[in-house]
Amino acid sequence: DREGHPSRAAARGGLGAVMGRRGLKAVVFLEGNQRPVMKDAARFRAASKAYMKALREHPMTGSVLPRFGTASLVTVINEMGAMPTRNYRTGRFEGADGLSGERMQALQQARGGQMTHACQVGCPIACSNVYHGPDGEYLTSGMEYETIALNGSNLDVADLDTVAAVDRLCDDTGLDTMETGATIAMAMEAGLLPYGDSAGILDMIRQMRDGTVLGRELAEGTERFGKRYGVRRIPVVKRQALAGYDPRALKGTGVTCATSPMGGDHTAGNTIGMPGLDPLGTAGQVEASRAAQTLMAVFDSLGMCIFSAMPSEDAAVFGLVGEMLAGVYGGSWTPDDVLALGRQTLENEKRFNAGAHIDASEDDVPAFMREEALPPHGSVFDIPREQLASTLDFSAGQRG
Ligand code: SF4
Repeated sequence: DREGHPSRAAARGGLGAVMGRRGLKAVVFLEGNQRPVMKDAARFRAASKAYMKALREHPMTGSVLPRFGTASLVTVINEMGAMPTRNYRTGRFEGADGLSGERMQALQQARGGQMTHACQVGCPIACSNVYHGPDGEYLTSGMEYETIALNGSNLDVADLDTVAAVDRLCDDTGLDTMETGATIAMAMEAGLLPYGDSAGILDMIRQMRDGTVLGRELAEGTERFGKRYGVRRIPVVKRQALAGYDPRALKGTGVTCATSPMGGDHTAGNTIGMPGLDPLGTAGQVEASRAAQTLMAVFDSLGMCIFSAMPSEDAAVFGLVGEMLAGVYGGSWTPDDVLALGRQTLENEKRFNAGAHIDASEDDVPAFMREEALPPHGSVFDIPREQLASTLDFSAGQRG
């Protein structure tokens, strides 16, 4: 991060996998002093300033995320009944208070840590944090909801300090915290470790680091480890562990996890909080996911943090993105021109997958999520397969 803590990873979006496949260990950027050449810098600045204002005025990007970070989602998702708990057996975790954004804020205030931390220069949201441990010293940074969900409630751990220790160990080892938590849940399903065993969880990660026999098996990830040990309930899509939202209680995000070329990844298009969308219903979920995936692909393509997309739910604010592009590249950019960037990116991702022999037959949630009712709502994932297949099919004129 900006303070030099080695705390970020190129993991789930696939870049790390591509680098690994190509044997590329690192890309080093030298600090330069050249500013990008713009066609119309004044036009860019005016649009950028207006967009910044929208970010500051939006309730999430202007208030909730800066104060509590993504950990603010613990309470929200738990209340919705979509919190992965003990390997997706229930959507509500009784220990959620111990993992909440409010709890993290109180701990960090007392210990000299930092909430409202910007992970990169110029971010006006600052949803990140610097987490200090019980001794008041730096422990980790970028403690996020997904790490908390997959290594907290998912493993029956109600203690942020344990999750922070997991986060630090994963960062030091070069492991994706989400895949790690989901894999350890497989070990728990297989009876190798009791749920809630904090010391055992940390030991398993050290075994991955040290390359013991069990550690090497664990390091193969959720699907391979789960299959090796005969686990039936393996929460993966396209061999990537699901994110911290149970698809049965947040079905639009479930559609995204099922159909995204990236696998079970929420960052491809989370539908949480979309106006007028019942997270437990079936109506409108495919359309909502398509819109979210297209918009996220736009922001990913532009190198903008996905949280900065939140105010773009307002069409007038989204129009400013086209204005910023016009300032940089010239010409005029309608909202549909901008969305075309997202559609094109998704088409490219699908082509990449086809080349990697990942086809549409893998576009679905794990079978147990269609069969097992999820407490407390008793819901299953019931979006028909044919509808999933149409989600990212732009050939029929869908615009996203
Ligand atoms: S760039 Fe994004 S992830 Fe980083 S602090 Fe800002 S809002 Fe958070």
